[in-house]
Amino acid sequence: MLIHEGFTYIFERNGQDSKRIWRCSDYTRTKCKGRCHTRKNNTVSFVSEHNHALSHAKVGAKLLKAEIKKAAISETSSPTSVILANSVKNVSVDVAAALPNIRSLKRTIQMARSIALEMPQSPSTLEELEIPEEYMRVCYVFSLLCNVRYVFSQLCIVRYVPS
Ligand SMILES: [Zn+2]
Repeated sequence: MLIHEGFTYIFERNGQDSKRIWRCSDYTRTKCKGRCHTRKNNTVSFVSEHNHALSHAKVGAKLLKAEIKKAAISETSSPTSVILANSVKNVSVDVAAALPNIRSLKRTIQMARSIALEMPQSPSTLEELEIPEEYMRVCYVFSLLCNVRYVFSQLCIVRYVPS
């Protein structure tokens, strides 16, 4: 998601010369044709008009949702309700009104956690490198296939040596 001058955009497609084209996130609701183009290093190169007013509350709610997700992953020992309570305690009334309901926010926290837990963590040293068993099995099958292919190619070479 991209936030620019109070409007939120969703990535649409890649354009020419590493240009990225973003569509207004209100496209489906208001049929807004607002677009934004960004270049490498995320500088905005083009913005078109929107058919609706900008919503600071909506932008605030989206930023807060991103913060809640970050807290869900970094504070794994805190219960869902504590993360939620800490995140929304200093929020203004209009941002709170733009937030999704509590059940949906709790689900956001649980989803962020389950995604983070399923992904193997990146090791910082070689000693920390631990390959989960299910990944090892794939490597084993792959190396077996490579060996079979190698032996086969060797046999072919032997067979087709011109005498
Ligand atoms: Zn728009």
